[in-house]
Amino acid sequence: MKYHIVTIGCQMNKSDSERLASHLKSNNYIQTPYRKEADVVVINTCGVRQSAEDRVYGLIPEIKKENPGVKLVLTGCLSERQDVLKRLKDKVDIWLPIKDLPYLKDKLKIRSDLSKTLDSNEYLRIKPELTSFFSAFIPIGNGCDNFCAYCVVPYARGREVYRPALEIIKEVEEIVGKGYKEINLIAQNVNSYVSVLPNNRESHKYFHSLGPKIDFAGLLEAISCLNGDFWIRFATSHPKDMSNKLIKTIAANKNICRHIHLPVQSGDDEVLEKMNRKYSSRHYQKLIDSIKYYIPEASITTDIIVGFPGETREQFENTVNLFQEIGFDMAYISQYSPRPGTSAAEMKDNVPPEEKKKREKELTEILRESAYKNNQKYIGRRVKVLVEGVNKKGEWYGKTDTNKNVKLNNMGVDLQVGDFIDVTIDEIWDFGLSCCPKKP
Ligand code: SF4
Repeated sequence: MKYHIVTIGCQMNKSDSERLASHLKSNNYIQTPYRKEADVVVINTCGVRQSAEDRVYGLIPEIKKENPGVKLVLTGCLSERQDVLKRLKDKVDIWLPIKDLPYLKDKLKIRSDLSKTLDSNEYLRIKPELTSFFSAFIPIGNGCDNFCAYCVVPYARGREVYRPALEIIKEVEEIVGKGYKEINLIAQNVNSYVSVLPNNRESHKYFHSLGPKIDFAGLLEAISCLNGDFWIRFATSHPKDMSNKLIKTIAANKNICRHIHLPVQSGDDEVLEKMNRKYSSRHYQKLIDSIKYYIPEASITTDIIVGFPGETREQFENTVNLFQEIGFDMAYISQYSPRPGTSAAEMKDNVPPEEKKKREKELTEILRESAYKNNQKYIGRRVKVLVEGVNKKGEWYGKTDTNKNVKLNNMGVDLQVGDFIDVTIDEIWDFGLSCCPKKP
């Protein structure tokens, strides 16, 4: 039997697909790159944006047309939405809330509607079939308790559940032992990570000095002490939960990447309150000041929603001011669109589309300027780069620990994907760097 997985969405979905692949493989299914020769096609869906949802509605008839006998499994964000279930009930064979992944083999055999009884930790315990040989995503938890007004994640993934620290550390230790160079710790809100430590603290040398619980800063510190030449990245952080302790932990450990992604969503306090973000723009600004003080070399990126229901021009100006003051290295700017089931969907989506577009453009222009300005400090600087691959134009590229893309052409040395190399930057643009041709 052959399977094919279509993954739409975020890092968490990509990581879930690696667990789906591992589950199917261990039940004697063989992966195929072709949808039309698969016995089972799994669509791992995303519901964060309407465009991602629409992709699924377009994909299903396409797959059924080219492969009428296929068993279609729908998992991910849309698999828990009642309206989607109603719309697609005759087209999808198996609905799989991701937490039920350990049941997939039974559902494929008997097509039963097994009830959902598992918590996230059970599926996260499945060893993933990693798709990269040098960079790994390691989920440290799943779900979210925050219920931001615009977001489907708490409904789609349920409440926060975190994996035991020892289990995560052992997984990282094993992967680093295989030579992996980049460990990406992921969860919807890494900053609220907490794990009760085993009574037998002797079971792991890094727990000796800790109390009965370990938080995210403690977990990062323990992982950063593991042997090996590797980087640690993490996402996503929530400004209401990010602590100075965490910032100081990053500052003190060189293998924790100097890149902080801290979604602000708006620079206006009234909009933040309507979004249910539970922090003020002043709090956010203070966090940024602290990051810049303790880790001056860090790059800072964010997420922004423009045109949230009721966002006035004056309120948007506060976001503009925040953008100008902080000077982000990158921002993922989204025009607001209502998501079914969220509290914001009940609000009037009253900012016209052309105004949303205009606001997005305005922020993008400020971003381009600040990113270019920030990159100027790299000129002539020696930086460590993780070689990631070759693009369609045949150019080698990689990434710094500050998450800057680097073009690596004409190096005069043989490059290997997954290697660290040191290069001198001689050219910059707004969202990237380039290193000296032929200079060592
Ligand atoms: S913190 Fe807010 S935006 Fe992030 S996943 Fe949770 S509800 Fe969604």
